[in-house]
Amino acid sequence: MNAPISDTFARQLKEQRGALLARVRQQRGGAIGRAEAAAEARRQESDDWGKATEERDLLIGLEERDSAELVALDAALQRIADGSYGLCLQCGASIPAARLHAQPTAERCVGCQDAQEKHGH
Ligand SMILES: [Zn+2]
Repeated sequence: MNAPISDTFARQLKEQRGALLARVRQQRGGAIGRAEAAAEARRQESDDWGKATEERDLLIGLEERDSAELVALDAALQRIADGSYGLCLQCGASIPAARLHAQPTAERCVGCQDAQEKHGH
C-alpha cells in the first residue's frame, strides 16, 4: 500500500546501519581501514540486513549508544518487513511522514512519545 514510502525509509535505514557498523569498525582500529570500511558500508546496503553472523561478533561490546541505535534501526527494518512501519507502537496511529523523515527509527507518534518521556524520566 505505502510501499514507495517504506522503500525510501528502508534505504535510509540501511545506509544508517551500514555507516554505524563502519564507524564501529573504525573505532576498533582493526584491520579494516577507512576506505575498506566505506566499501563495506556500501556493500551492506545491498545485502540482506539480518544475516551476517560476523556482525554479531562486532556487536559484542558495542557502546551502549551505538548498540541502542543499531537495535532501533533493526527494529525499524523489521517493521518495514512486516508492514507495521510508520504505525505508533502504542496507539496504532500513523506516524506523520515528516516525523519519520526527521527520525526514521521513530516508534511512537508525538503524543505517545511525549507521554512516555514524562512518565519514564
Ligand atoms: Zn501513539
